[in-house]
Amino acid sequence: MPAVDELKRIVGEPHVLQGEQAKSYQVDWRGRYAGRALAVVRPGSTQEVAEVVRWCIAQRVPVVPQGGNTSLCGAATPDDTGTAIVLSLARMNRVRGIDTDNDTMVVEAGCVLQAAQQAAHAADRLFPLSLAAEGSCTVGGNLGTNAGGTQVLRYGNTRELVLGLEVVTAEGEIWHGLRGLRKDNTGYDLRDLYVGSEGTLGIITAATFKLYPLPVAQCTALLGLASVRDAVALLSLARKGFGASLTGFELIGGNCLHGVVKCYPQQRIPFDGPSAQLPWYALLELSDSESEEHARARFEAVVGEALEAGLASDAVIAESMAQSRALWHLRESIPLAEKAFGKGVKHDVSVPVSRMADFVETTNAALQAHFPGVEHIIFGHLGDGNLHYNVARGEAYTEQELLGMQDKIYAIVHDSVHRHGGSISAEHGVGQLKRDLLPLYKDPVELALMKRIKQALDPLGLMNPGKVLGK
Ligand code: FAD
Repeated sequence: MPAVDELKRIVGEPHVLQGEQAKSYQVDWRGRYAGRALAVVRPGSTQEVAEVVRWCIAQRVPVVPQGGNTSLCGAATPDDTGTAIVLSLARMNRVRGIDTDNDTMVVEAGCVLQAAQQAAHAADRLFPLSLAAEGSCTVGGNLGTNAGGTQVLRYGNTRELVLGLEVVTAEGEIWHGLRGLRKDNTGYDLRDLYVGSEGTLGIITAATFKLYPLPVAQCTALLGLASVRDAVALLSLARKGFGASLTGFELIGGNCLHGVVKCYPQQRIPFDGPSAQLPWYALLELSDSESEEHARARFEAVVGEALEAGLASDAVIAESMAQSRALWHLRESIPLAEKAFGKGVKHDVSVPVSRMADFVETTNAALQAHFPGVEHIIFGHLGDGNLHYNVARGEAYTEQELLGMQDKIYAIVHDSVHRHGGSISAEHGVGQLKRDLLPLYKDPVELALMKRIKQALDPLGLMNPGKVLGK
């Protein structure tokens, strides 16, 4: 095992962690993957990152880049051999600059997403990337996974929000690509290659992001629905009525909302009687550039039309920012409240919106045919065709039994996704969790090209080995 004295010289002794201090960096957010690292190394500058990578090349030590360690697919933790370093970007957390003339912002990789949003807001701009982990995840991790979240419908995934990158390559060079250009057709798009590569091609140390005007007003509503089919029709109605002002459209299974209030009794479902017991809800957000009144009037028109057409059974339009936040809080609490249902088998999938209702109906039926009584915990970004389709044991099975059924459940859900023209990872990435599934569902030529790119950019295979691609 190489001694880490040289790493201490590069980044400073307090920033090379071993033993107890390194523990939390070695276990993933869900506690599913527990590895062991040679050391956790926390460089404070791009230059230091490059020096650390060059040391790793010389010593043939693998590198696992890590941001907030909120990956949901085991992408940011080491294996259990104790041979790799975890390279934590946490100290590189500065907003280097905001350029309001060009509506751009340069942020270091270890900056927590919420801090980046706040910096943009302080400059009277919107950085629209938003997800439930935003208080812990970093922009480097968002870039590494091409994170999605709740505003994709209007602003796109992280990839659509980035204009330039600074990268330490797998060979230890620094690529100074922090361009803020909206147009730049000068050859292969390396930026797009690094975004979503889950740390397997190099280390992103900073990025230039796009900024947007802050909306003048935002209006949110929760609608109760009878079916996914109605939700898809409602999406179409909302798109027609709101155009580009529709910034969020989330589908929520009724049981998910009940799980949230069970876990967090201070929260409440804003309906009474039968409307609180509907099988589905949709959370819609409209961002308006005129006024609160204008936003509300537009919302009332679309909601009125939906109720009249029988697409929704009931609706609550938030009266204030506080109510709007409370509705979003309900939605964002679902991943954390899932423990109310016990350990689940989780899927982050996408299918074309037009096939969403068929997908949910046929997958639910197939699961019930094999495992009667399992519970379906379904929620997600319907506007992007992305669902978190999770399966809990319900009353029918023990956690141990569900674990035994897991592989068959994965196969039923992913086969159905494939039949419906979808993807087995919509936004969380591949990591370790889905690595061995890629050959089953991905085009073989596409997979072969990915392996060739990996070989070309990381010839020693030191960048986050065992993630995304197998050996
Ligand atoms: P990490 O978990 O540390 O790393 C993720 C991956 O990126 C790893 O492969 C890592 O090696 C790589 N990486 C990290 N930093 C760098 C870097 N500087 N350069 C190169 N590679 C790097 N995801 C969504 O897309 N949408 C959601 O709505 C969403 N909701 C979530 C809700 C909760 C409660 C939680 C816990 C997670 C959620 N996630 C969601 C998943 C997760 O938050 C995102 O994947 C996030 O982008 C990861 O950021 P991170 O800083 O924690 O990265």
